[in-house]
Amino acid sequence: MILNYFRIPLKMSKIKLLDKTFEESISAEKLQNRISELANKINADYKGESFILLGILSGSYRFIADLSRYLEVDVQIEFAKVRSYEGSESSGTIKTYFLPSERLEGKHVLIVEDIVDTGLTLEYLMTNIRAFDVKSIKVVSLLYKPNKYQGSENIDYVGFEIPNDFVVGYGLDYDEKGRTLNSIYKLAKEKNMLNLVLFGPPGAGKGTQSAKLIEKYGLVHLSTGDIFRYNIKNETELGTLAKSYMDKGELVPDEVTINMLAAELDKHENANGFIFDGFPRTSAQASALDELLQSRTTAIDCMLALDVDEEELKNRLLERAKTSGRADDANPEVIQNRINVYNAQTAPVADYYKAKNKFTSIDGIGSIEEIYDRLCKAIDG
Ligand code: 5GP
Repeated sequence: MILNYFRIPLKMSKIKLLDKTFEESISAEKLQNRISELANKINADYKGESFILLGILSGSYRFIADLSRYLEVDVQIEFAKVRSYEGSESSGTIKTYFLPSERLEGKHVLIVEDIVDTGLTLEYLMTNIRAFDVKSIKVVSLLYKPNKYQGSENIDYVGFEIPNDFVVGYGLDYDEKGRTLNSIYKLAKEKNMLNLVLFGPPGAGKGTQSAKLIEKYGLVHLSTGDIFRYNIKNETELGTLAKSYMDKGELVPDEVTINMLAAELDKHENANGFIFDGFPRTSAQASALDELLQSRTTAIDCMLALDVDEEELKNRLLERAKTSGRADDANPEVIQNRINVYNAQTAPVADYYKAKNKFTSIDGIGSIEEIYDRLCKAIDG
């Protein structure tokens, strides 16, 4: 089975590296402006002196390259290589791979760091470099996390003070990914949303119950049927594309549907959560929805499936036909077919959520209020 064979649309300011989503926090333009300001200060402070710019690899390779473009003083470029981070956590121990110690002797040294976090690396470098009898030693760091810093060394030039978020880009990596990004991105935080997939055969009371849940929990109802109709009616690019398949009697490809859902999610960025109705219908769609939500730093909490036996469903639909005038409710054969289609479709999707411990079956027999209570209990629990 091919899962996720298409690209999940990401928001412009977000990127995904391995298992994590990051959002832009300092743009390329802001970085460049600030770096040129730092260079101006360094130019003024080191005027008439020759000094060594000591880049700490690997993270500072971009910073030292850009910083040196703006320098108008006599400077020699050297590099040291140390490492203290594994993944997105500091390992607490520092490993030196290379320090050009003898080249620093008797010189003014300006350490160029990409980021100072706990300050352990800086402390370690300063101690090791001071041992080589340097004339002076100063530090420039593009980023600095004041709330994490435990060191006592002074950081002479700071580009940006940032909160305790893990950041990547502009030389900084997450497990060797993201260094070549032109902006700084921070780890996106999981949103506190309630996202439900509501399932139920025709006649199970899905419409009635979802209206009540939406009101109680302040959710946004995302029905793929409604989204299709909206996009087609408004002749959006995706709507026109979807229609071209429908006109040929073909199923709209999942990629088109997911793109439409993405656009709807992005319209309601600050919602308390979503109820997905009519989607996902296959486990490939369920997996694509997971990926889409992950890219928006949220996730499905639970699939709620209303369980109603076939006899009851048929009776309810025939009863509804008396007042609704819906032709598809009035014919027992059509009803049976709709129930069969539902059963065939739901089983694999239910299995998908069961495997993730996110499936709850709700007894759909009883009064509207009784069923509603059961749903609320399942959600609140
Ligand atoms: P410190 O020793 O100050 O805790 O951390 C120094 C090193 O840890 C930095 O030079 C950098 O390599 C890594 N580091 C600290 N914070 C971050 C971060 O938010 N993102 C990334 N990619 N690396 C970090």
